[in-house]
Amino acid sequence: MKINIIGAGVAGLSAGCYLQMNGFETEIFEKHSHPGGLCTSWKRGEYTFDGGIHWILGSNPSNPFYLLWSELIDMPSIEFLNHDVRMDLEVKDNPDRYGNKVFHLYTNLDRLSSYLMDLAPEDSAVIKKLIRSMRKIQGYEIPPMIRSVPGLLPFWQKIKFVKHLPLLFFMMRWKKETNLTIARKLKNPFLREVFQLLFDGDEVPLLVITLPLAFNDKLGVGYPVGGSLNFARKIEERYFGLGGKIRYNSAVDEIVTENGRATGVVLSDGTKFPSAITISAADWHYTLFTALKGKYTNKTILALKERRNLEVYYSIFLLSLGVSRSFSDFPHMMNFPAARELVSPDGTRYSRIEVHCYNYDPTLAPKGKCVVAVKFYSKNGDYWIGLRSSDPEEYKRQKTAFAEEIIGNLEEKFSGIRDAIEETDIATPATYHRYTNNWQGSTQGWLPGKNIIAPSPVDNVIPGLQDFYLAGQWTLPGGGLPVAIKTARTVAQMICHKYHKPFVVSK
Ligand SMILES: Cc1cc2nc3c(=O)[nH]c(=O)nc-3n(C[C@H](O)[C@H](O)[C@H](O)COP(=O)(O)OP(=O)(O)OC[C@H]3O[C@@H](n4cnc5c(N)ncnc54)[C@H](O)[C@@H]3O)c2cc1C
Repeated sequence: MKINIIGAGVAGLSAGCYLQMNGFETEIFEKHSHPGGLCTSWKRGEYTFDGGIHWILGSNPSNPFYLLWSELIDMPSIEFLNHDVRMDLEVKDNPDRYGNKVFHLYTNLDRLSSYLMDLAPEDSAVIKKLIRSMRKIQGYEIPPMIRSVPGLLPFWQKIKFVKHLPLLFFMMRWKKETNLTIARKLKNPFLREVFQLLFDGDEVPLLVITLPLAFNDKLGVGYPVGGSLNFARKIEERYFGLGGKIRYNSAVDEIVTENGRATGVVLSDGTKFPSAITISAADWHYTLFTALKGKYTNKTILALKERRNLEVYYSIFLLSLGVSRSFSDFPHMMNFPAARELVSPDGTRYSRIEVHCYNYDPTLAPKGKCVVAVKFYSKNGDYWIGLRSSDPEEYKRQKTAFAEEIIGNLEEKFSGIRDAIEETDIATPATYHRYTNNWQGSTQGWLPGKNIIAPSPVDNVIPGLQDFYLAGQWTLPGGGLPVAIKTARTVAQMICHKYHKPFVVSK
């Protein structure tokens, strides 16, 4: 039975692997010339610039996602790096009691605990509670029952979920807490400012930071040496090994439907490829409103389109520099006040800068040199996408002028960086949109709502259309690689269930 899959991102490749393992014949259609989608990197001269992941959940067996990655990849063949400090955050106003303005977010919980207690003994009750909560997280299986799809389980197996009730109660207890509610509880001015600035002044559920930190402590959220594309290539390799086919440079323009069934895809050159089942592991908006022409919607889908249920995850303006210095004494990730406020052409104002120094990955730059990347989040990706399409010259001028301003600002912290620049690359939301089709240049699909334990309003099937499935970052708010592989596996399990085949995973 033939299955067409749209997109060779991590979700499309993973869906292909699982379906090949289960005896289906699959073919992936990818508009770009490479696999990976958002999980990507590219070469500029001697340098490799990474436009994707910083860490992968499940990089060692302490996290259940390791089991899933191991189904597709020989995980021990990848070197994962775990940083001692997740980020160095410089405050603007309140130094710590030693006169320092830089906060180190340690990834080892014992170290983090003693560091916080030393800095703010007056806040010991709050600190102990936070550390205790992260220790508790480590005791739970997260996500619960990762290899099952609840909807497909018989009743007697669903009962097993009861053992995860303590996790549910824990999440309910913590779901209302944010970085700002914690900040308000802190007496120490330095620590209070740190919590206020954790997300550049935004209010974000605390679990967004405590969950990864709990896994960091167990070394389960590592960076894959070699970068994002290297990681995606490992899944591509497995897919080919399982007999899968990929058509690169093959954009799907239309999903063919007949009598309420998806029956194939049509490429931009007009070629039609029939199939019994179609999976879109590509952008949600493009799939529903361009490839399917908006014919299959309901109230929930239309509310999502108008962004009434969920917000689209930020896009980014990413400036990558290949520099002839190692900056080996600089932390790998810094967030600090900008010397001068930066105003992006898209209207977003930035008073802080986030810099990533890839001095820890020797595969990305020659010895003694390094890649330095500056990332600015934007909720106005459409500005860049529109400008690039209406006036490419002006787009180029604006992105270059903004990059120049950023470099000027960087000089204050990285003295002499301008003279050390050998390669420059500017990726805007329009770049992400152009290469991956993601709506508004989104980097992770939907932003999780304020209530991060609320059920997702997005589904793997759509109303009124048979033999069609959605997988990937747009099907579970928060996105990321874990969502890509898990939703792909879920869709493969749903298809096996439909055809009364036991779902198997082969080595
Ligand atoms: C800067 C950055 C940092 C990130 N950091 C992390 C991190 O540290 N950890 C983490 O877990 N996640 C991170 N993410 C998010 C993660 O990379 C994504 O959530 C994940 O890769 C999404 O995978 P996907 O397969 O669902 O979608 P995508 O990667 O978007 O793949 C979709 C694929 O479909 C193709 N496609 C689209 N339309 C068509 C069409 N019409 N025809 C044919 N092909 C089409 C696209 O070209 C693309 O290859 C980051 C993302 C970015 C951009």
